[in-house]
Amino acid sequence: RADLKSALLEINKLAAKYFYAQLKSPQGEKAYTYLKDRQLSDGTITAFGLGYSNKYSDDLYKYLKAKGYSDQLLMKAGLITIDEKHGAYDKFWNRVMFPIMDANNRVIGFGGRVMGDGKPKYLNSPETPVFDKSRNLYGLHRARSSRKPYFLLCEGYMDVIALHQAGFTNAVASLGTALTSGHASLIKRYVDEVYLTYDSDDAGTRAALRAMPILKEVGITARVIRMDPYKDPDEFIKNLGAEAFEERISKARNGFMFGLEILEREYDMNSPEGKTAFMCEAAKRLNQFDEEIERNNYIEAVAKNYHVNPPDLRKLVSRMAVQTG
Ligand code: ATP
Ligand code: MN
Ligand code: MN
Ligand code: MN
Repeated sequence: RADLKSALLEINKLAAKYFYAQLKSPQGEKAYTYLKDRQLSDGTITAFGLGYSNKYSDDLYKYLKAKGYSDQLLMKAGLITIDEKHGAYDKFWNRVMFPIMDANNRVIGFGGRVMGDGKPKYLNSPETPVFDKSRNLYGLHRARSSRKPYFLLCEGYMDVIALHQAGFTNAVASLGTALTSGHASLIKRYVDEVYLTYDSDDAGTRAALRAMPILKEVGITARVIRMDPYKDPDEFIKNLGAEAFEERISKARNGFMFGLEILEREYDMNSPEGKTAFMCEAAKRLNQFDEEIERNNYIEAVAKNYHVNPPDLRKLVSRMAVQTG
């Protein structure tokens, strides 16, 4: 088994080098242009080892076969598919390639993106003996040596890369899957705090709400960064730059305030009735803080944020405690 794992890592490393060389060759011009259009520098492309899987569907297969690896092993690496009719062919074809490294900088799998609007947008390596998606994070091999006491946790490869390029070298992403407790424990080895910087769409909001208790479970404090009016960190940085992103970090909301912001959507906050009903629900939630000082701190923060009188809110919180308790 140890032999199998080291063979798979060796194959992945060769494949990553191959994809990288393809990107730099005349054949890779379109992919290189694609990355340049997305404003990645040569330094960034090299630092993340980005590559290109070219148009011939058995290119990598032939290359790796010539190195002496068996079909079975290449299949186990998740790099080729074998079917009876067509024989062996590459899994990744005409895509920009993102090698995925583990914390120790070993290539454990790949993500491949179409250039343009084809589907699926991303194709990822299947799980293999060396690629466990729920126990690895994209960007961790670099983020682990960042000096910040927290990680920026985002959705995708491009987000991580754009953030690193802008100087936020503490960015990581899960690998096309939801955050798991495996990810949370992995993060906890390095930092005690996470700033969630998921996409600003509904899917991203839901993902942030689901991630928070998973992080809390292992003792990580989570905050949420707002990306609006942009879709994700990559687009935010591209449009507003690093300084504006830094400001968003400083304005990140804790889980409680983020929960209230989601709740707001269910009320008409512009009508007195709607806002009152919302404040009642918020007051109910404020009762989850058993410690009086903590509860009071949250009451102050909520009162300030929603422009209500703190003593009034405190009264409402007590009344709601009687009603629900
Ligand atoms: P780009 O990454 O080019 O900026 P995007 O921001 O629209 O595009 P998202 O749809 O937000 O990309 O995807 C974020 C991440 O989710 C990707 O980096 C990838 O890891 C994962 N992902 C997206 N689509 C798929 C897919 N079809 N299959 C597997 N993983 C996917
Ligand atoms: Mn998304
Ligand atoms: Mn996105
Ligand atoms: Mn994006």
